[in-house]
Amino acid sequence: MDPSRTRIVIVGAGQAGARAAEALRAAGHRGSISLLGEEQHPPYERPQLSKAMLTNASEEPRFIRNSQDWAAIDIKLSTSTPTVAVDVNRRAIGLSDGREISFDRLLLATGTRPRRLRDLENCGLRVCYLRCIDDALELRRNLAPGTKVVLVGGGVIGLEVASAAIARGCDVTVLEKADRLLPQVGSPALSGYLRRLHSDRGVAICCNATIMGVTAKGIELADGKTVPTDLVVVGVGVEPAADLARQAGLAVDQGIRVGPSGMTDIDGIYAAGDVAEQWSGWHGRWMRVENWANAQNQAIATARNMVGQDVSYEVPPWFWSDQFDANIQVIGHPGGADEIVRGDVERGRFTTISLRDGEVVGAVTVNSQKDMALLRRLAASRKRVNPSDIANPAFDLKQALTS
Ligand SMILES: Cc1cc2nc3c(=O)[nH]c(=O)nc-3n(C[C@H](O)[C@H](O)[C@H](O)COP(=O)(O)OP(=O)(O)OC[C@H]3O[C@@H](n4cnc5c(N)ncnc54)[C@H](O)[C@@H]3O)c2cc1C
Repeated sequence: MDPSRTRIVIVGAGQAGARAAEALRAAGHRGSISLLGEEQHPPYERPQLSKAMLTNASEEPRFIRNSQDWAAIDIKLSTSTPTVAVDVNRRAIGLSDGREISFDRLLLATGTRPRRLRDLENCGLRVCYLRCIDDALELRRNLAPGTKVVLVGGGVIGLEVASAAIARGCDVTVLEKADRLLPQVGSPALSGYLRRLHSDRGVAICCNATIMGVTAKGIELADGKTVPTDLVVVGVGVEPAADLARQAGLAVDQGIRVGPSGMTDIDGIYAAGDVAEQWSGWHGRWMRVENWANAQNQAIATARNMVGQDVSYEVPPWFWSDQFDANIQVIGHPGGADEIVRGDVERGRFTTISLRDGEVVGAVTVNSQKDMALLRRLAASRKRVNPSDIANPAFDLKQALTS
């Protein structure tokens, strides 16, 4: 087919969809590109929602491009336009308003949705989730000084909101059902550090917390405590928005399964970003990766494959989080009893490194960005290192890369 007539449709105008659309044009694609999103806003990046937009009452949301700039690169952006069906045989998608759009290639970049706690929603409490601009604006309106805010979930979202709520003068409690904060990361050093960081700033932390019910006095826990509550923010993980893919008969497990090029099991249909599940040679298993870097880079690699380039995408997962004045960065899967800790945990500047057979399989840095830059390269290189070198505080990590 004449490439200038190849019609590409992207469902999901989040970060991955937007970056893929830009990358298609950058790769020289001359056919039509339709970018379809169900939100009313043009595409934006989500990290701002739990950081500047909450802490600063006048912070305006930032968009990847405004609506006119999408037209300038000949991308037809349609907001408030949910896609409701994918017909793989007729190569067409159906929109909620009854229209159909035909495609030659389709990218599903539908992301994730917050896991909801219906029982709490039905107890008469004000319950918020944080996924989109409208959620952030609503939450911000409610973070008034003295408001009793309870975060259900001591993961990244819960802890970032806790930090913002303290900055806004709220009275904050974090309920985490595991025995430590950020259990998903699995680093005992990081969990211990976060507990101190948040407690020192006035956050009440309850680990091993099981919610039994809600009374007029607040949320009742299994240990008999009652936590007074004006506002509940739930951050207990997300689920892939994979219903369209399932209905269309694509292979879906923990997300939409894609091969190394980003293509699903049906020719010409691709997936990228939070919704895609890809084999990780680095981890040796299928993985759905939920972070900013993956939404950007996997989407760009997939877009290039969609127009005939041959690009493979495989890097260790990496994300960051900002809480109070701490910058936390994580790659791979750190943790376990064997993590090597370098630096000063008490003073909030340290690095932890987890090795398997001498390879870096996970690392955490707190206020140590330079270490993370080195460790990302070291992990990606799959070089073997000597554990006793890494454990030696005088050893320069740069040497591990160059030796
Ligand atoms: C509050 C918050 C803070 C974060 N902070 C960080 C951070 O500090 N560092 C980090 O690394 N990562 C962070 N992340 C994660 C990062 O933002 C996500 O990994 C990234 O947004 C994933 O991009 P995506 O495009 O795959 O999915 P999404 O951003 O979820 O976008 C998918 C889009 O598709 C739309 N959609 C879904 N179904 C349909 C349909 N049927 N029709 C049309 N449109 C549809 C959705 O409405 C959505 O707009 C944060 C996430 C959140 C929510």
